[in-house]
Amino acid sequence: MTASEVKNTGSVAGGIAVRGLALREKLIFEHSRAGRCGICPPEADVPQALPPAELLREEIDGFPEVSEVEVTRHFTRLSSWNYGVDSGIYPLGSCTMKYNPKAAEAATRIEGLANLHPQTPPKLSQGALKLMYHLAELLGEIAGFKAITLSPAAGAHGELTGMMMVRAYHEHMGNVRRKVLIPDTAHGTNPASAALCGYEVVQLATEEDGHLSAETVKAAMDEQTAAIMITNPNTLGLFEGEIAAIAEIVHERGGLVYCDGANLNALLGIARPGDMGVDVMHFNLHKTFATPHGGGGPGSGPVGVSARLEPFLPVPRIRRTPDNRYVLDDKAPESIGRVRAFYGNFSIMVRAYVYLRLLGAQGLKNVSEMAVLNANYIRARLEPNYVIARRGRSLHEVVFSDEGFPDGCHTLDIAKRLIDLGFHPPTVYFPLIVKGALMIEPTETESKESLDEFCDALLQIAEEARKDPELLHEAPQHTPVRRLDEVQAARKPVLKA
Ligand SMILES: *Cc1c(COP(=O)(O)O)cnc(C)c1O
Repeated sequence: MTASEVKNTGSVAGGIAVRGLALREKLIFEHSRAGRCGICPPEADVPQALPPAELLREEIDGFPEVSEVEVTRHFTRLSSWNYGVDSGIYPLGSCTMKYNPKAAEAATRIEGLANLHPQTPPKLSQGALKLMYHLAELLGEIAGFKAITLSPAAGAHGELTGMMMVRAYHEHMGNVRRKVLIPDTAHGTNPASAALCGYEVVQLATEEDGHLSAETVKAAMDEQTAAIMITNPNTLGLFEGEIAAIAEIVHERGGLVYCDGANLNALLGIARPGDMGVDVMHFNLHKTFATPHGGGGPGSGPVGVSARLEPFLPVPRIRRTPDNRYVLDDKAPESIGRVRAFYGNFSIMVRAYVYLRLLGAQGLKNVSEMAVLNANYIRARLEPNYVIARRGRSLHEVVFSDEGFPDGCHTLDIAKRLIDLGFHPPTVYFPLIVKGALMIEPTETESKESLDEFCDALLQIAEEARKDPELLHEAPQHTPVRRLDEVQAARKPVLKA
């Protein structure tokens, strides 16, 4: 460490990082020494049964040659670089980085569930089908929908499935229509899903305080508009209070209302999108109903629909026969067809089901109330030193900006400095309409102590920005790698030494 590096020994109250044992790690290729091997068994004294020559691979050029202890330490050290919700507060907004109860995890490991082959015939997988059937029923009840498909593998896949149903519905009505309305607060997957279904995206501007007004929708809505895609609460963490009026306007002109349900964590047991006039909505089981996520999966994005979209649901559908057997039904003439092999990511459904049964109705309501309380606690503590992005009332997440920070101190610097103080940064630069957005979603499981430690760190950073901005610019200093050139990393990734 150089003197300038030592200067910073950030003294925040909390934080989980210790200095001095941040393990450095080389690439596995750099550990390689010719002739080293993992296991060196003695020479065989019986004839060896080698696979046929055509199955043997050519030697791989530059393949690392390392000992067992080297390879074990290499990957163990790398694993210590992983930060997860099991390590500490994971305040990413928009993604609900929910703590995954160990009971939910344990249930997925039950052998009959974990090792169930997807091709097991229904008569031998009644338990799994029953679990899925009941999960769908619970989701329908929670969000107010007539029917649910569990097939989609993630939220974005749910959106695509939902918009395919919207298109099938309009086709059935004799005009597929051309456009889909999407407010400027939307997650990027919304316009992508609409465009993939052949629709032109019309972006709607939200009001000064961050909400979408019914007037704006009225002005944009016409008979060529297939649907509106709306997120509620929206990505600013604000409840769209005019949703019912918006749904009425859209329905009046023959359109449908799609709700992005990624933020359902704010509404459980309190309000139901189906009751607000929503026709179709995806859930993100991996956000709202346990399951750790990140790094691209696995996820599960069930879709709920109102009665008029039910005929278009993907197959297979799980049905209960009058004698209480569960069957996979492929016969649905108006269905959009299959959206996935088999019936979706089953183990995510097991976690969600256990999570729901563990909490029960009152427990679920507590989840949302605590999630909203926690976000508002953070808002109250930080608001004196951080500018809130939009003035509306926050629900489960809160969005600040870097407005008012001294010249040259931006959101990225705040995020990097948080790492030095031992915290995972929140979501940054999203939603896109907020310049320098810092989007924080603590979730319901964080204690007051952990919220306070996190807020203390952010308040310390606000002060440092005024007194010693270099600390922000040079962060992170206490990590195995310092600040990366993100453009270079994206454009010219070096994956091999
Ligand atoms: C996460 C998210 C999505 C996409 O969901 P995935 O499961 O990541 O595909 C869509 N909309 C919003 C608002 C989200 O936060």
